[in-house]
Amino acid sequence: MSVNLHDYIASVPDFPEKGIIYRDISPLMADGTAYRQATDEIVAYAWKKEVDMIVGPEARGFIVGCPVAYKLGIGFAPARKKGKLPRPTVSASYGLEYGKSTLYLHKDAIKPGQKVLVTDDLLATGGTIAATIQLVEDLGGIVVGTAFLIELTDLNGRDKIKGYDMLALMKY
Ligand code: IMP
Repeated sequence: MSVNLHDYIASVPDFPEKGIIYRDISPLMADGTAYRQATDEIVAYAWKKEVDMIVGPEARGFIVGCPVAYKLGIGFAPARKKGKLPRPTVSASYGLEYGKSTLYLHKDAIKPGQKVLVTDDLLATGGTIAATIQLVEDLGGIVVGTAFLIELTDLNGRDKIKGYDMLALMKY
């Protein structure tokens, strides 16, 4: 029997600032049945795409991507913030509401031609995922899909990753 994943998302008004409704995935992760169901849905998607490797941005991209990699018996590479990765990296910057942020990926994380699934918890403006895709492509990886627990449709993040296949388990 399947559960309704929406029942495991806490919507928090005025966080982190007034007027924003924050979608908190913690209850989903805290429930073994819901977390496994969400993971299995992404596993089925990744299986169809014949994915070789998963890449997710810090930190909730790990929470979504790692169990999928485990289940498929493939690798996971973390895209991390400044100063976290100890060996040579490629980097990609993206705009935030105020200023910019940069993500890094180890240069040997992806082999040219590998089919990569990019995962994150939530798609908002699409900046984070676009930067993660750029890192993979800089290393010669082929992004065959993107997977999210949640898409915030009003923010049109989808437009930033036009041309890439996308799975979103929930839309708000
Ligand atoms: P984007 O780069 O604007 O698409 O923002 C997506 C990133 O911001 C993801 O890595 C999310 O973890 C985080 N994020 C933005 N809004 C929310 C939210 O409402 N709940 C949880 N994470 C969020």
